[in-house]
Parts: sequence; C-alpha cells; structure tokens
Amino acid sequence: MRLKTIEKLCCPFDKGDLQMEVFTKDTGMNVLEGILSCTVCRRKYPIVHGVPIMTPDEYRQEALEKPFFEPQKLMQEFQDDTALS
Ligand SMILES: [Zn+2]
Repeated sequence: MRLKTIEKLCCPFDKGDLQMEVFTKDTGMNVLEGILSCTVCRRKYPIVHGVPIMTPDEYRQEALEKPFFEPQKLMQEFQDDTALS
C-alpha cells in the first residue's frame, strides 16, 4: 500500500492518529511490512504484504501477526536465508 494512503488511515476504534514504523518497502513508495500504532489506544496494526490489518480484535490471528512484532527475529531469519543462497 502506498505511503500516502497509509498516512490517511486512522484507528478504526477511536479515529486516533496512527504512527507508522516501516520495516520494508519496495522501490516505489509502497510499504510492504510495518506496524501502525494508534497514539490514543495503543493498539498495533501490522502491515502484511502491503495490506494494513485493521480487523476488530476478535478476528485477529495472533499466530499470523506475531512475527511482525518481533522484528529482530524477522531480521535474523532474513539473514539466515541470505547466507544459504
Ligand atoms: Zn485507537
């Protein structure tokens, strides 16, 4: 999703402003992985493959999102992949 589009998003619960932490983006201005955090309620929304996951709490899948809240682990796996190839 384009950076400009993400900047226009707000928290679906309280319409709070979202702060974005970008992990990876492509050569354009599209964010591929990152985290949006609400400045009001502190909820965090991962951006997975360019799509912000902003579903209500009860529909969220922790297993799917977990790696995105462990960026160091993610980075470690990435480095392992690079070493093998
Ligand atoms: Zn919020």
